Amino acid sequence: MEHVRYSGQHLCSTHFQEFVEYRVKRDLRKQGPFKDAKIAVALSGGKDSCVTLKLLKETFRDNPRVTIEAILVDEGIEGYRDQTIPLARDVCERFGVPLHISSYKDAVGLTMDELVKRNPLSLPCTYCGVLRRRALNTTAKRIGATHLATGHNLDDTAQTILMNQVRGDVERLARLGPHKRVQPGLVPRILPLRSIPEREVALYAFLTGLPVHHGDCPHSSEATRGKYRELLLKLEADEPGTRHALVAGYDRMAEVLAGAFKSAELAACATCGEPTQHGRCKACLLIDEIVAKDPARSATES
Ligand code: SF4
Repeated sequence: MEHVRYSGQHLCSTHFQEFVEYRVKRDLRKQGPFKDAKIAVALSGGKDSCVTLKLLKETFRDNPRVTIEAILVDEGIEGYRDQTIPLARDVCERFGVPLHISSYKDAVGLTMDELVKRNPLSLPCTYCGVLRRRALNTTAKRIGATHLATGHNLDDTAQTILMNQVRGDVERLARLGPHKRVQPGLVPRILPLRSIPEREVALYAFLTGLPVHHGDCPHSSEATRGKYRELLLKLEADEPGTRHALVAGYDRMAEVLAGAFKSAELAACATCGEPTQHGRCKACLLIDEIVAKDPARSATES
């Protein structure tokens, strides 16, 4: 029996699963419409993305105008990503979903482990995030996806909103998904789990026999996010419903923010062709920086 504190309900396993599914479908209705859509799920093999894939596949089971595929970005992190890839493959097989894998090694010529060795002073998540966004967008476009679904849950969403509010970064707040506006060259994001707390996603995954991978990325440098995570969990314990209130408040502001910050003019990156506000995209600039730090290259040049 699950006690849902913020709603005061005690739910058995069946009703708990229905409770999760109902809210995801309700959110998808708000984030749609999905007509003649191909939704690419950003799949890592972790609980959030596996639950996202399952729920999307089941929601659109009887709709021939919506297809679901999956994209996995293989950063090349030994002891971490190599453990989740088989889980992702299994889930795709179970739900009959085609899986596309895009690796940093193919795109940049280096794995994340190798990149970290070359950049011991930089925060790995900063450049990993940039490379992953590009890999997801280029692969989603290559397979003809109309939407990109990510596994961000309620905790992730509330943390991102709070972090940007504390920093006063209103422009970034205006750009957060789910995206209603379609910008040329960018596949719009949807977030089916944005109303579901992380703990409930984990329980749902467990109850429905989906993988729950407990390993952490060895390069994780998201200390700031961790602070907000702790803070929100404390607030939630004192005031159940805090995370929902934060996201609902943001949703009421989102339209005003979208009106205040028009979409930036995007052009194709001179190197890779991905959309950018500048001549070259952030990922290409990062790659240049990393190549410049290549010890073998420095030795040859000196
Ligand atoms: Fe990349 Fe950071 Fe995630 Fe590891 S924790 S996969 S370095 S973004």
